[in-house]
Amino acid sequence: MAEKAPEEFTLRKLLFNDNGKFCLPCTLYKSFRYVSGANLGGSDASSASVGVDTAAPSVSITEGANIPAPPQDTTVAPPQGVTVAAVATVAANAAPAAPVSEFIPGSRTYLKEDPPDVNKVGAASWTFLHAMAAKYPEEPTPTQQGEMSEFLSLFSRVYPCFWCAKDFEKYIGAHAPQVQSREELSLWLCGAHNKVNKKLGKAQFNCDFWRQRWSDGWEGDN
Ligand SMILES: Cc1cc2nc3c(=O)[nH]c(=O)nc-3n(C[C@H](O)[C@H](O)[C@H](O)COP(=O)(O)OP(=O)(O)OC[C@H]3O[C@@H](n4cnc5c(N)ncnc54)[C@H](O)[C@@H]3O)c2cc1C
Repeated sequence: MAEKAPEEFTLRKLLFNDNGKFCLPCTLYKSFRYVSGANLGGSDASSASVGVDTAAPSVSITEGANIPAPPQDTTVAPPQGVTVAAVATVAANAAPAAPVSEFIPGSRTYLKEDPPDVNKVGAASWTFLHAMAAKYPEEPTPTQQGEMSEFLSLFSRVYPCFWCAKDFEKYIGAHAPQVQSREELSLWLCGAHNKVNKKLGKAQFNCDFWRQRWSDGWEGDN
C-alpha cells in the first residue's frame, strides 16, 4: 500500500499567483517535488543542487522565465530560472512513487536493491566490455594496445565470480586479446562472449552485428 502523500504535497492542491491566476509551474514543481523527492534548492536558487541523494533525476536548470514563488506557501519555493518545460520534463520522468519502506532509510531516491547475482554482474560487465571495445581507437598506439591487453588480463583475475574468472583467464591464455584495432578487439570480445554463451547453453550472437549492437545502432535496419 503506497504511503499517503502529505497534505501540503497532494497532487491535486493547486497554487495561485497573487493576481488569482493559476500558477502551472508552481503546481508542477510541487508535484514533481513530491513524486521525486527532489529539492531544487528552494528559495536559494544559486545553491540549487540536483545531484545529491534527495534529488531524483538530473534536471537542467536553464536561463528563462522565472517561476514566481507560490503565494502564502513557504514549503516550496521554486528556484529562479527553472523553466516550465524543465519542471514538466522532470516531473514526467520522475520515478513512480513507492512506499517509503522500499527506500534505503533517509532516502527517497535509492531503493533497497539486493546485491547483484552472477547474471546481473555478467550483463553489466559485458555491457561495459563491449562498450569499451566500441570506443577503443581505430588505430591504437602500442601503449594503448599494451594497456588494453593488461586490462583484460587483470579483469579476468578480479572478476567477481570465481569460476567465471577462471574460465575467462583460461580463454585469454589460449586466445590472446586482439588489440590491434577497434574492429579486431570487438570481434575478439564477441568470440569470448560467445564461448561463455555456449558454455551456458545460450544462442550464439552473430558477430557481424557487433557494430550495430554496441556502436552505431540499428537505424535503417530491417
Ligand atoms: C567474463 C565473463 C565470464 C562469465 N562467465 C560466466 C560463467 O562461467 N557462468 C555463468 O553462469 N555466467 C557467466 N557470466 C555471465 C553470463 O555471461 C551472462 O552475463 C549472464 O548469464 C546474463 O546473461 P544475459 O542473458 O543477461 O545476457 P549477456 O550474456 O550478459 O549479454 C548481454 C547482451 O550482450 C549481447 N550479446 C550476447 N552475446 C554477445 C556476443 N557474443 N557479442 C556481442 N554481444 C553479445 C546481447 O545483446 C545480450 O543481450 C560471465 C560474464 C562475464 C563478463
